[in-house]
Amino acid sequence: MKTLKLVVVIGLFLATSFVGNSNNNPFWGATGHRTIGKIAEDYLSGKSKRKIAELLDGQSLALVSTFGDDIKSDKRYNDFYTWHYVNMPFDVKYEDSEKNEKGDLVSGIEKCKAVIVDKNASKEDKAFYLKMLVHLIGDLHQPMHVGRYEDKGGNDIQVRWFNDGTNLHSVWDSKMIESFNMTFTELADNTDKISKEQVAYLQKGTIADWANETQQLAIKVYGSAEVGEKLSYNYMYENFGLVRSQLQIGGIRLAYVLNTLFS
Ligand SMILES: [Zn+2]
Repeated sequence: MKTLKLVVVIGLFLATSFVGNSNNNPFWGATGHRTIGKIAEDYLSGKSKRKIAELLDGQSLALVSTFGDDIKSDKRYNDFYTWHYVNMPFDVKYEDSEKNEKGDLVSGIEKCKAVIVDKNASKEDKAFYLKMLVHLIGDLHQPMHVGRYEDKGGNDIQVRWFNDGTNLHSVWDSKMIESFNMTFTELADNTDKISKEQVAYLQKGTIADWANETQQLAIKVYGSAEVGEKLSYNYMYENFGLVRSQLQIGGIRLAYVLNTLFS
């Protein structure tokens, strides 16, 4: 197992049908998504806060952050299924990749942004796409949501997490976060201190640039575990810093996207 000096998130990606173990929570874990929503709230402009409160009838970003996964079991929303991830060969950047005609994480986020600023869109539609956007920016920062097509972003890579059978996707979505056992509020309150310059640096780039960045983390994650390997304390020690950092970066960037949309 190689040392992983990056950071990551949680995420969720494919529904239970892809997960080989019924105990698996198929979501970046609610805790991861909520943490990102909560962190974003600290970086919102006053104007964004007001407009978001209006669209969401006062619901918090943390509350709505799991919406994208909540609707997955409802067949009416099947068209959004592919929006939770993007698969690219490791040597190809998003811009040059063959696109999924049903949409992907990057095009899905762009679609959400377009509806939110569309003067002709209804409040109901804007609220729907805003909730999707909050969720998808979270997914964009979970390395395994930008993984390989062949193994469904690590869902087909079986490993053990302590004594339970699971897969690599799920370890990064939720297992590490669950084992760490902090609430989303505690995780958000305990982010590393970073400077204004660092925040400005993190907020540079496009959605596609961020997907390419996450892909680099995915490559490291794939190298961090062997098929069938038992992962436990040592894996947590080496990798949870990346999870925490990706949650923080996801929150900071979510706020940036919202501040830009609502400026
Ligand atoms: Zn998702």
